[in-house]
Amino acid sequence: HSSDDPIKNAEEEVRDWAKQKASEIEQLKKQEVYRREFLSNISHEFKTPLFAIQGYIENLQDGMMQDDPVMAQQFLEKAAKNIDRLTFLINDLDEITKLETGQISINMQKFDLAELIFETVSHLEDKAKKQNIQLVADLKSNTPIYVKADRQRIQQVLINLIDNSIKYGIDGGKTKINVYHLLDQILVEVTDNGQGIDEKLLPRVFERFFRTDRSRSRDIGGSGLGLSIVKHIIEAHQQTVHVRSTEGIGTTFGFTLEKYKAS
Ligand code: ADP
Repeated sequence: HSSDDPIKNAEEEVRDWAKQKASEIEQLKKQEVYRREFLSNISHEFKTPLFAIQGYIENLQDGMMQDDPVMAQQFLEKAAKNIDRLTFLINDLDEITKLETGQISINMQKFDLAELIFETVSHLEDKAKKQNIQLVADLKSNTPIYVKADRQRIQQVLINLIDNSIKYGIDGGKTKINVYHLLDQILVEVTDNGQGIDEKLLPRVFERFFRTDRSRSRDIGGSGLGLSIVKHIIEAHQQTVHVRSTEGIGTTFGFTLEKYKAS
């Protein structure tokens, strides 16, 4: 609503400008808090394995190699495990940074989702067996399900979800992978009968570094970034993820994909 009065107009312009700057500052402040939290989480995540490695090496330096070679060997293995953990963490951080800054391109292609599911299940079968968990892909192996998506990244999604169902599963448990046909989409669900997630914490599981139980998760050794990577990948496909869970009963993670349509 400009008036004929040039001074009034100028005043209004200045006021609008100030309002915009204030909102920009607010935005920057939020980003700063976010960045600081991210850095503090990262340093925390690095410290745990680094301190552990330091401890094992100090023991080895103190003559354990000669005094107790069996224990020394175990300490070396534990140190190596912690180094693996740091490597996984760095890879996940790299991935999430790329996803968040839009540095990755989604390579959309037609592929058979059924085949990908069977392939992924067979990759993870040994790991599941070690925890006495059965993996069941509840779909026909001879019926292709064509989708349009980035095959490699969707495999990453499947790996993260199935791997979690193993990590947070119970001895003698079972993980099922189901596929449902919607109108233009395919819905994939990974259901376990593991420990489940507290209802109050459920909305936060996709947050970076979020864990329902820090100490227990640390023993299991994830980076706390797996689900956040899942969400980013699916959203980069313009699709959605969801979770349902009941503590002590089990958890279902699901995501949608675009059906491939020959045009
Ligand atoms: P992490 O590396 O800790 O597994 P994720 O981002 O993959 O990180 O998962 C975040 C947290 O969500 C986990 O630490 C765990 O507490 C919880 N969670 C994920 N998947 C499951 C599941 N299938 N059952 C129970 N809890 C789960």
